Amino acid sequence: MYDIQKIREDFPILQREVYKKPLVYLDNAATTQKPLCVLDAMREEYLNVNANVHRGVHYLSQQATDLHEAARETVRAFINARKIEEVVFTRGTTEAINLVAQTFCESQMKAGDEVLVTDMEHHSNIVPWQLQARKMGIVLKHASIDDEGCLEISNLKSQISERTKLISIAHVSNVLGTINPVKDIIKLAHERGIPVLVDGAQSAPHMKIDVQDLDCDFLAFSGHKMYGPTGIGVLYGKEEWLEKLPPYQGGGEMIDKVSWEKTTFERLPFKFEAGTPDYVATHGLATAIKYMESLGMENIEAHEQELTRYCMEQMRTIPNMRLFGEAPHKDAVVSFLVGDIHHLDMGTLLDRLGIAVRTGHHCAHPLMDRLGVAGTVRASFALYNTKEEIDALVAGIRRVSAMF
Ligand code: PLP
Repeated sequence: MYDIQKIREDFPILQREVYKKPLVYLDNAATTQKPLCVLDAMREEYLNVNANVHRGVHYLSQQATDLHEAARETVRAFINARKIEEVVFTRGTTEAINLVAQTFCESQMKAGDEVLVTDMEHHSNIVPWQLQARKMGIVLKHASIDDEGCLEISNLKSQISERTKLISIAHVSNVLGTINPVKDIIKLAHERGIPVLVDGAQSAPHMKIDVQDLDCDFLAFSGHKMYGPTGIGVLYGKEEWLEKLPPYQGGGEMIDKVSWEKTTFERLPFKFEAGTPDYVATHGLATAIKYMESLGMENIEAHEQELTRYCMEQMRTIPNMRLFGEAPHKDAVVSFLVGDIHHLDMGTLLDRLGIAVRTGHHCAHPLMDRLGVAGTVRASFALYNTKEEIDALVAGIRRVSAMF
């Protein structure tokens, strides 16, 4: 039973007002609000457990280590990874992709080899590859999308060559909401011996992800977009790949033995976790995952699918509405413009009505170029949003439109 009113009580920030209006928070693709249980878990750890993790003989250090490693197990089970060795904590999706870009390109690629992404990627799945392209002379290719915002699989296939060494692709677009058929893409990539990285920043909060079922080689996602704290995220990598990749950053925690002559590195996953980890945030993330699981990922997905369907339906009733992203499989993100009203004007005026949406390029300049716009307005949903909030959004858009 999905009791939305009870769920909303878990997020006290949703009760606040802005400009003396009830807050309607529809900027969840940027970051989600945090339930009390996550805040309580982190406060409790700082209050009563805090100590640096790993190698500490004292009680608190062992307790903090236990919580940190239990969080890794929670993440492992959440994505159904085979082993905890395959779960690397990072600062977020961005760092996870940078980790793979740097270590994979350095160890597995030569000048002229290719990485294939798509036209709907976030900058964090473009720029890390461009940095490597500049450094190593690798080539970054991008598969096209159609006017509905669906990936053109035939184009993707045609861009694969014998020099393609990796495909890196968003599971869900943060602008269009398109759910890409990543399982099919992984299958066709594997038939050609190419590994696949899935950017799960916009999918992990919304649907059950099973890395064994997808058979992805890497998966990246961020804690703060799934009700957890900022500054923590995950890179899942198949053990065989992580073993092949060199360390990303050097420092404490990631070494086995250091000498002036030769340094050896820790086993997985610690090889990729230099420095003191954010062990309070990992506990916060695990608490957020358990919170989502207590509601049921299927229930969250069904609720958000219904909100998305309802929002698209309502938006279509607004005169001069231009919707970006009309894929049949779409999730929790609605991007739009109305007539020639600038996205910033729309966003600013909606804000005055208490409605928080995001405006601009959404860290996807190449996609904006493809859509032929400088930016859009984006409403994005989370497990606590309601149809009444969508009604408020639609009424707000009508009101702003009438002003122009
Ligand atoms: N990938 C996608 C699809 C995103 O939407 C985002 C953030 O909006 C990112 C990557 C980057 O996530 P983070 O800033 O948490 O590293």
